Formats: sequence, structure tokens, C-alpha cells
Amino acid sequence: MRAFLDSLTQTLFPCTCACCGDVLMPGEKQICINCMAELTATLYSGHAHNRTERLLGARIHFLHATSIFTFRHGNTVQRLIHAMKFHGNSELCIQMGRQMGLELLASGRFDDIDLLVPVPLHWWRRIQRGYNQSELLCRGIAQVMHREVNTRTLRRHRYTRQQSLQASADREKNVAGAFSLRHPDDLAGRHILLVDDVLTTGATLCSCCQALEEIPNLTISIATLSVAGH
Ligand SMILES: [Zn+2]
Repeated sequence: MRAFLDSLTQTLFPCTCACCGDVLMPGEKQICINCMAELTATLYSGHAHNRTERLLGARIHFLHATSIFTFRHGNTVQRLIHAMKFHGNSELCIQMGRQMGLELLASGRFDDIDLLVPVPLHWWRRIQRGYNQSELLCRGIAQVMHREVNTRTLRRHRYTRQQSLQASADREKNVAGAFSLRHPDDLAGRHILLVDDVLTTGATLCSCCQALEEIPNLTISIATLSVAGH
């Protein structure tokens, strides 16, 4: 009900900032210029051995990895993610995807990507939310990088509780074995960009990569819109 009302509000009053609620000025889309300036950029994308790569490197084989913004409790990035997940604001997700795409392009390290693969939601969660925010990020990236989005191969077959509501120690157990594959041939020999909205412990991405492991000659790079600050 809450999500529905939020979505209705967005439809009826589309011209307010998704982060602070202020009325948007002409030329501003979804986020006001002040909040845009407050999005804490990591500047990781152009750099090998960045913090995201170090965070995931011990557990996942990947070519390149990056996160675009840092979220901390109460910061503008956290409000942005919240608006993407719980306010039914699909256009905001696509816009942030375009932002990701521009940064990935500018870095020059993600030029060899063949396909964009979002971290999937369980079908029931997707119905509750109305969309998969990571898939919409991919749609936005695709508008900039002109790559196809593959949503049919990597599947989430187990319903898991909201990660944000759990102690981090429980997260690994929660998502282990939650993903499986259909039509794995679609990805064989390709270089995919695995996309998610948030990186905290990396448990979700690790679990995805475990499922993807059986695909022959698959190269994985990873991009998340945000990473938990330290
Ligand atoms: Zn704002």
C-alpha cells in the first residue's frame, strides 16, 4: 500500500526532488541540483585495485569492477537508493543508469562489455516493487553504451528477506545458492557487466558469480551504483 501511494504521489506530483522533496526547477530531472552535488562520487571507475575491486577480489574472479557513489547512513546517496527501491520511481532508476553508463564509458575500462546482466529479483519481490531496480539501471546504461540487456539467463529462484534488515553475518547464508541459470548458452564466451544497485558485503554478487561459474569462457565485470562507505 505504501509503495502504491508513493507511486501515486510521484505520478501526481512528478516535479519534486526524489532525495529532498523540494520542487524541481526547469531543467532538473528527478533530483535537484543541490542533491546532485551531494552525491558522493567514488571516482573508482578509471582505477584498477579500487576499493570495490579489493572488496570483491578475494572471492570473485572478474576483470574490472567499480561502484559509482558511496552511501552512508543518512546521506543523499542513501535517500536516492531508498527512492529507487521503495517509492516506485522507475524513471529515477533509468536516469541513474544513464549516469553509470556515462562514467563507465569515460573510464575506458568497460569498452569490451558485450552484455548487461542485472542482479535479478525473485519474481514475487519484483511484483511487489513493480520493477527490478538493477534491470532499470541496465536499461539506462544501455541507452548510453548501446549494449543488450540479458534478463533471462541469471535467475533468483529463492525468495530472501530484505538484506538491509539483517545483520551482515546473516547475509552470506541468506543469498547462498539463491541464483540459478536458464539458457546459459546465451552468455557462453561473452563478457558481461553484472549490475546491482548496492554493494555492502558482496554476498549477493558472490552468489550470482557462483551460479555463473559453470558458463564456459564467460568474463565478468561488475558495476554497482553505490557502495557502503567505511
Ligand atoms: Zn534535492
